[in-house]
Amino acid sequence: MTQLELARKGDITPLMREVAQDERVPLEFVMEGIAAGKIVIPNNINRQAKAVGIGKGLCTKVNASIGTSSDIVDLEMELEKARVAQQYGANTLMELSTGGDLDMIRQRVLKEINLPVGSVPLYQAAIYSIREYGTVVKMKEDFIFEVMEKQLQDGISFMAVHCGINTITLERLRKQGYRHGGLVSRGGAFMTAWMMHNEKENPLYSQFDRVVELFKKYDAVLSLGNGMRAGAIHDSTDRAQIQELIINCELARQAQDAGVQVIVEGPGHIPIDEIEANVILQKRLSNEAPFYMLGPITTDVAPGYDHITAAIGAALSSSYGADFICYVTPPEHLALPYPEDVKEGIIAARIAAHIGDMVKYKHRDKDLAMAHARKQLDWGKQFELAITTEKAQEIYNKRKPADPGTCTMCGEYCAIKIVNNLFTECSLV
Ligand code: SF4
Repeated sequence: MTQLELARKGDITPLMREVAQDERVPLEFVMEGIAAGKIVIPNNINRQAKAVGIGKGLCTKVNASIGTSSDIVDLEMELEKARVAQQYGANTLMELSTGGDLDMIRQRVLKEINLPVGSVPLYQAAIYSIREYGTVVKMKEDFIFEVMEKQLQDGISFMAVHCGINTITLERLRKQGYRHGGLVSRGGAFMTAWMMHNEKENPLYSQFDRVVELFKKYDAVLSLGNGMRAGAIHDSTDRAQIQELIINCELARQAQDAGVQVIVEGPGHIPIDEIEANVILQKRLSNEAPFYMLGPITTDVAPGYDHITAAIGAALSSSYGADFICYVTPPEHLALPYPEDVKEGIIAARIAAHIGDMVKYKHRDKDLAMAHARKQLDWGKQFELAITTEKAQEIYNKRKPADPGTCTMCGEYCAIKIVNNLFTECSLV
């Protein structure tokens, strides 16, 4: 039985227990959240990964995506990225390779870390079809399902599957008549090209029962992909994106009814004044299924710093109720990330998730402790509390103050020290 089926029966599984312990919430809270489709735990019967709860009432989780490209195939670098992702606190990893031996790379990454690993099976199905036939439009329908099963057999815990791009979605896009930034989802682009050329329905939609059966067999989480997500601020929240969201939310219900845990994915590029509407829509239409925000990137004009544009979007998304955010690295839109970029992306996303949770759940204890440590000029405690311990320590140690109680920002005129010396009797901590 799946985690969802067991939760509906009232059974508490070891995974639910681990999540409840990590999140410091009652066991029943996790079990009931899963039973209601509001919480998921990425899983696979073939691989034991760390139990990570995603959804309502749990801390916002961060995904790091890695993977080769057709230009850069460096297995050792991808393994290093996977290790960096785990070391710097990503909650999940998506292995999205598109270059080299995709089965071998995935299997090596799965062995390298113990985080739940996700994938986008349409990449491999499309790329292997292009390698064999020279074009994605000759991709065989059965082959998509074979690839999906192969990846699940290997131990993939959650998959972004592009089921919601159907003929209705494409009709919305056609009638809208524009897309300033085109289609930027690779899976979305592959499937759109296949459907338009073959004049056929998306098999992931027309044979959705088959998709559901596979996820049920391996007890994995189905993440309904956002193939129509905007790749430009001027395309955000358009008819095609919302049409796909509606279809994904209908499919989410269908999969949940069959006992499969589901996440619904969101955009993309969005100006900050549309983020709340996107979260409300997804939550309302999906009966509060976990919402996975890809970024979102909040301006198009900061290449090189898109980990920052996305962190701004992720913090707001989380504060409005998004449950899961995908990091963005500095080379987004420019190049394949290096391990150092993965680290920067994860740290930015973790800061964003924390800021979101400060609003969503009033999780502010750590900030209070930091205020007290700063007031006491307790540098050890400040480093310990920092999300970015290593960086904070490195900066401080490189510019050591003459008075070790202060820092070189104000030196002997340290405001905190002056006030502490004058008003020790007023100290509140
Ligand atoms: S020296 Fe200035 S910046 Fe540094 S701890 Fe004191 S008040 Fe803060």
